[in-house]
Amino acid sequence: MNPHPIVIIGSGLAGYTAARELRRLDTGIPMQMISADHAGFYSKPMLSNALASGRTPQVILNADAEKMAGQLKMDIRPHTRVVALQPDAHRIVLQSGDTLRYGRLVLALGADPIRLPLEGDGADAILSVNDLDDYRRLHNALQGKREVAILGAGLIGCEFANDLAAAGYRVHLIDLAAQPLGRLLPPLGGAYLRNRLEAIGITFHLETTVRRMERAAECLLLTLDNGTAIHADVVLSAIGLRPRTALARTAGIEVNRGIVVDRFLRTRYPDVYALGDCAEVEGRVLPFVMPIMHAARGLAATLAHTPTPVRYPAMPVVVKTPACAAVVSPADAHIPGEWSVEEGGDGVKALFRDLEDRLLGYALLGAATGEKNQLSAQLPPVMA
Ligand SMILES: Cc1cc2nc3c(=O)[nH]c(=O)nc-3n(C[C@H](O)[C@H](O)[C@H](O)COP(=O)(O)OP(=O)(O)OC[C@H]3O[C@@H](n4cnc5c(N)ncnc54)[C@H](O)[C@@H]3O)c2cc1C
Repeated sequence: MNPHPIVIIGSGLAGYTAARELRRLDTGIPMQMISADHAGFYSKPMLSNALASGRTPQVILNADAEKMAGQLKMDIRPHTRVVALQPDAHRIVLQSGDTLRYGRLVLALGADPIRLPLEGDGADAILSVNDLDDYRRLHNALQGKREVAILGAGLIGCEFANDLAAAGYRVHLIDLAAQPLGRLLPPLGGAYLRNRLEAIGITFHLETTVRRMERAAECLLLTLDNGTAIHADVVLSAIGLRPRTALARTAGIEVNRGIVVDRFLRTRYPDVYALGDCAEVEGRVLPFVMPIMHAARGLAATLAHTPTPVRYPAMPVVVKTPACAAVVSPADAHIPGEWSVEEGGDGVKALFRDLEDRLLGYALLGAATGEKNQLSAQLPPVMA
């Protein structure tokens, strides 16, 4: 038996779900978790709808690292950054210079928010929220303030916009696309969502972007490409995430958009696995909760010596915009097809079919969200 533990780098949903699933299958296997952050367990999706309901960072934290270590019977090292992987030697290098040996290694490194390169002396004041510490910074920055500008009207940008508006802030939502959720909704769906968000006071600035951000007397002054000037107390960027691949790439592990793994979540290096926002599973980067749950279950079985390929069913995503109920199940972007859209009965039902008329995806808004289960049952699996 390998005397070294299974080492998991990362204490997000991917790291903890893999650890929990593995502990269920094997109560004795030695496990160790290394995390650059506090390593407490919390639900990240909650961060974009916590303000209006008054949930503070302390309330969102479910369990700290010590409690998790007790629950999962594993050694957890918070505030410990891994700076290099040495897969040939089955070793990782910590920022302190110490090295640790592993039997098998799980990379659950997450993703970094993409930053827009901006001109102006206020550019460094831009915030983004991709973890609980970021949320704490946002929460503090908002105290006593009123005006917020959000860059990016994708899932996270729309959710924060709705939450901030519901919490009483005045919100500007800025996007290069002509509609919110441009990659997930056909134009009629985008217009419906926009309408609902405008009805709660959100101001859209579409088909434009921020060029400059300067510090003014008591706020930030944003200049958009279309010439519009916006005063904001807080600016939040939500323009997307990039899988954290640098550690793997430097170690010679194959990287494409994410860390490349097969359906067993194996990299090409023996005993090195990856899952979650950092991973690319057979060409797919799926930075959502449901894929992580399925991947973690498969990986745990594989690590417990029953090699188990990951299977993904259809995995709809509920958009947390209470002003406009919405659920999307996007089709693979590479498959040609067409939307058919019905509006009425206070909702929009958009179905995406391929050229042979097979249903591949959908977007449901308002009352049409009631059809979610029935339509999901008709969708093919994302990865059979
Ligand atoms: C605001 C928000 C709302 C969301 N809402 C939804 C939703 O409603 N539905 C949905 O399906 N998905 C949602 N998502 C996406 C979902 O939350 C993520 O896909 C998921 O949480 C990612 O988990 P992860 O463990 O892969 O990454 P992370 O949670 O980012 O964890 C990465 C971990 O790796 C550690 N780490 C990184 N580098 C190092 C290093 N060098 N050394 C040591 N440790 C390191 C980090 O400290 C961290 O602990 C949302 C995301 C956000 C940001």
